[in-house]
Amino acid sequence: MSTLLEVSGVSVSFDGFRAINNLTFKIAEAEMRAVIGPNGAGKTTFMDIITGKTKPDSGHVLWGEKSVSLLAMSESKIAQAGIGRKFQRPTVFEDQSVADNLMMALKKPRSPFAVLRFKPTSQDHEKVADLADQIGLSAALHRKSGELSHGQKQWLEIGMLLAQDPRLLLVDEPAAGMTPAEREHTTELLVQAAKTRAVVVVEHDMEFVRRLNCKVTVLHEGSVLAEGSLDHVTSDEKVIEVYLGR
Ligand code: ADP
Repeated sequence: MSTLLEVSGVSVSFDGFRAINNLTFKIAEAEMRAVIGPNGAGKTTFMDIITGKTKPDSGHVLWGEKSVSLLAMSESKIAQAGIGRKFQRPTVFEDQSVADNLMMALKKPRSPFAVLRFKPTSQDHEKVADLADQIGLSAALHRKSGELSHGQKQWLEIGMLLAQDPRLLLVDEPAAGMTPAEREHTTELLVQAAKTRAVVVVEHDMEFVRRLNCKVTVLHEGSVLAEGSLDHVTSDEKVIEVYLGR
């Protein structure tokens, strides 16, 4: 598979503190990748760099088959280019139904007034029904999102991101606060999503990472400490030292 995103030699400092230090990372089209690392390793800042929220002091971030630099692009342009990000806390519109949330994500109205004028076609309704099916919320399509469980809200938000059909989806701790059954469903959802797009999952829960069954990148002090299968990285002396403080 060809490279979708290439981060090379990226560094960023905050008030003289190097949060990201000469970081290099590559992900291919339709690849699933887990990013792990202790608190303060630079995981959030790394995602902020990819999405354009934080601009690095040096290095390159190249996107797509044409290797377009993301550094000069705004956050919204990067999102339009096909990079979607899910934060840890779900941000669905609680007063709206599951279907309306998905429809809004699908049509991306520019303002709340555009929503009032918006007339969904039967194809739009079909797409919304497909998305609800993908995220396991078909039975809850007409329920208010505020009534959903924490896990269901997380799935809805993933569905809202999928509605925009990103080529790269960044997901921050998707399984946090979920029941075992919800985690299982989340795994399936992400594995399914990664069949047609690249997915980067930042996660602390090693059992969850194991189920994703993908290559793992370990960050430490803003650099890649180890990369490979979960078994490979967790048997790496440097990784054991960082995690267990030995
Ligand atoms: P992680 O997500 O792996 O816990 P972060 O990317 O949040 O790590 O942080 C990496 C390091 O950079 C931490 O030491 C953090 O305190 C520091 N840091 C992150 N953002 C800022 C900021 N805006 N100002 C100052 N320091 C920051």
